[in-house]
Amino acid sequence: MISGNRPEIKNYSNYPNYIYFDYQEIQDSISKSSLKKVAMISTAFKQFSNWNGKGRLTHIDKQKVEKIIKKAKKLKKPFRFWATPDSKTAWKAFSELGVDIINTDKPAKCFNYLNELPQKIAEIKSFSKVYTPTFKINSSKKTVKNIILLIGDGNGLSQISSTALVNNGELTLTQLKDIGLIKTQSADDFTTDSAAAGTALATGKKTNNRAIGVNPKGKPIKNIIEIVSEQGFNTGIITTDEITGATPAAFYAHQKDRSQKNEIATDLINSNLNLFVGGGSATFENLAIENKFRLIKSTNDLKKANNKVGFFISKKKPTPVQNGRDNILAEVTKESIAFFKQKQKPFFLLVEAAQIDSFGHYNDTNGIITESIDFDKAITEAIKFADKDGETLVIITADHETGGFSIPQGNIKNHLIEGSFTTNDHTATMVPIFAYGPQSHLFTGVYENTEVFFKILKSISK
Ligand SMILES: [Zn+2]
Repeated sequence: MISGNRPEIKNYSNYPNYIYFDYQEIQDSISKSSLKKVAMISTAFKQFSNWNGKGRLTHIDKQKVEKIIKKAKKLKKPFRFWATPDSKTAWKAFSELGVDIINTDKPAKCFNYLNELPQKIAEIKSFSKVYTPTFKINSSKKTVKNIILLIGDGNGLSQISSTALVNNGELTLTQLKDIGLIKTQSADDFTTDSAAAGTALATGKKTNNRAIGVNPKGKPIKNIIEIVSEQGFNTGIITTDEITGATPAAFYAHQKDRSQKNEIATDLINSNLNLFVGGGSATFENLAIENKFRLIKSTNDLKKANNKVGFFISKKKPTPVQNGRDNILAEVTKESIAFFKQKQKPFFLLVEAAQIDSFGHYNDTNGIITESIDFDKAITEAIKFADKDGETLVIITADHETGGFSIPQGNIKNHLIEGSFTTNDHTATMVPIFAYGPQSHLFTGVYENTEVFFKILKSISK
């Protein structure tokens, strides 16, 4: 294809059949025989706009650009602008405008970006019904009776922002007023994993990555569930991970490495938990868990359950929301709270939305947001109960951020978000913590993740 110095258009058809031309005189007319020799239509972008590729084209420029593209398309040849801004935002804008050939000095980067874009864009169709709390008991000085701790694994600020923005701009979570930020570094790493972060939240001690409920030397540390059990609390854990996953395990197990699944499973069986719900029954096949926990088969069975119940929602890791997991996280949260309430003893319930992290690792925007909306539904159940109960403190936080997730573009009206990722791993960015109920004010400020443990103990101390 000849570009640059080209012959006169009327002479195109005199050239051999393997030679084509870049037609740049779109304003003029062209004969049928010459048009046959056109491989591509090009024109200078600067004639229509001075856009630098940041933000959006102005409405007036966009109309001009659309008009020339429409004119070019009538000739049914691929269309290109030259001298264009050369950025992700520009590549996306031109591709959405229907420009067929993107002009760039970074073809590989441009190809990868546009190729992966569908996976980075989420268009959300199912939403969290926002509950507005009464705030009657919020931040009161009253001693707390029950604790509900909800952990969104990998649920950083962009995860929360994107979820709120697609959910008509708000979540139940974003109604809350007592907010802080926690630092997540582990004992041996700038960037934590879920094992060390879970252990920090559960025990108030920093430990090494991969360690579950033990200190950097491998010595077991008492966790919050063990401590409050001794004070007469009933305790439970709910997760959308396998129940032996690092985050839930940090609240009942003591092992040097998160991969010691069998040992962690045995710790669960021997734990003083009254209730657990999660995936991963396969791990327990030869472990006689039935001797310690009555295994139930549905959320409904929770209503009639007595003490020490276990509910496996899947053999391995539970199905993601975007692949058809139903409303189970919110349902079991609601029924577990009812289960504890009828016992008339104080309770500590941990709820983990585990797969926000998984989709951060996969750099899958839709996965992150659908899991995070699912999480907000569980949060809603906890906040509703706290309002009715008046003695329950609800704490919502994350163990770390995953994906270096950011949200460069989106559309609130169409519930659309474009995600961008700096890594397929965790990051060290501080994560938000929200609290609602008596003593919620204890959780404001900026502090280490280990402080959460001490703040919880303070909230329940008489
Ligand atoms: Zn992770």
